Formats: sequence, structure tokens, C-alpha cells
Amino acid sequence: MITDEGKNEQHFLVVLDFDDTIVEGNSEESVKSLLESRDIQFPCSMVNHYEKHKDWNYYINLLYEFLHENDIKQKDIVDSLHKISFVKGSFEMLQKVAEMKKTRNIDVIIISGGNVLVIEKILENAGLRHVIDEILSNPVSVEPNGLLKIGLLNTHSCNYCFSGEMCKGVVVRNYLNRKKAERNIDFDKVFFAGDYLNDICLCLEMREQDFVMARHQFPLEKDLENRKVKGQLKANLISWKTGYDVMKVLEKQTELI
Ligand SMILES: [Mg+2]
Ligand SMILES: [Zn+2]
Repeated sequence: MITDEGKNEQHFLVVLDFDDTIVEGNSEESVKSLLESRDIQFPCSMVNHYEKHKDWNYYINLLYEFLHENDIKQKDIVDSLHKISFVKGSFEMLQKVAEMKKTRNIDVIIISGGNVLVIEKILENAGLRHVIDEILSNPVSVEPNGLLKIGLLNTHSCNYCFSGEMCKGVVVRNYLNRKKAERNIDFDKVFFAGDYLNDICLCLEMREQDFVMARHQFPLEKDLENRKVKGQLKANLISWKTGYDVMKVLEKQTELI
């Protein structure tokens, strides 16, 4: 709907994954580079534990404990995040979204299985923190001795997702219900961009008018293609290679009509 002032009254929601969508690789695990630069070997037993139990939260806490034992401080961790690189075009995509927010009703949120501290710092370093309305990720607390502890954003009873990780389907559903209760908003279109299998539950929450963007040749793409054929995925499915592809979809689909 267009108002008399020519403003598009539709409400849009852009949901973004973080690791391998905004930045390349795993932002939480990138702190391992601090061990490499000091020639400290990360114990294989810890990696093997993850391979066996698939408990990401437990594994990441082991990693942070190991850093702490080796006298690597929170400041070192935060400083190391300057080195992380953005996915091609994702920095520009977020800048464009900031511009689009001036004339369109767009909420932008990040839903990530990483942690809030790392995501906040990377976005701040890039001067992009203001673009994101909410970061829905795991909370971080600091113990009196300086050890970082990563908590869990929520627990869930989803059969698909591991218990030590969030179910992004639950996270997005809670967010949409909260926006409905707070501002009486039903989003006209929801967009999502991601890359991995932990994004599936979120994608399956999307409706016919929504757009799910899966990174080309990353695991989510193939999985969703199969689900689309089987009729399990209702949303439009688009493959993306760079942040510029995501940007084009957002620009076109939120145009004034
Ligand atoms: Mg990802
Ligand atoms: Zn799930």
C-alpha cells in the first residue's frame, strides 16, 4: 500500500545468518588463530569430542577455556576479530540495506548459532552495527577470573536440531510472535539468507510470499532444492553467490509498487 506521501507502508523483515553469510568461515572458531600464532596445539581430544557428540556449545566453551588456560585474554580475542573477512558483497549489501531503511519499513535481524560478543564486535569494527535491529544469538558472560562463558539463546525440543545448538525455527517464530504482540505487525514479506543445515528449520517457517536465499554450493542449497520438490519448502528459493545477489533480491522485492 502506498500512502499519500508516497511511502510504502508494507513491512519487510530481513533475517540474516552470520557465519558464511556475512563473514567467511566460523567467527566463533576463528579465535583458534590466536593459538596458532603462539604455536599452541589445540587438543585433538576436544575436536574429537565435538565430532562424536555434536555439542557445539560445549565444544566452544572448551575452546574458550583452553584459550583462558593459555593466558589468552578477552582483549586478545576481541582484537583478533579485526582479521575476519566478509563474504564478497555482504558489507555492501548491509550498507545498501541501511540506505533502503530510510524509505521503507525494513527490520533487519541476525539469527546466528555463534555468540553475541563476536558478532557485535565484528559489526562494530565494520561500522555496520547500526544496520541491525536485533542480534539473536547466544549470550556471553564473563566470569570473575576473565573466562568467557557462552550460554544458549534458547532450548528446544526440535528433533532435527542438536540440543547444544539453537533451533533457528523456534527463534524466528518467537521473534514474529513478539513483533505481533508489541507492534501488531504481520510482515508482508520475510527474507532470509543463509548457507548451512542449521538454517533449515528457519527456512521451513517461511511462507509462500517469503524469500529464502541459499548460498550456492553450500549444504543448505541442495537440501532446500530437495524439499522444494517435495513441497516441504513453501517460500521462494533463490541461490546466491555474493552479497550483491542478496542485495538485488532485497531491492527488487521491496520496491515501491
Ligand atoms: Mg552460516
Ligand atoms: Zn530445529
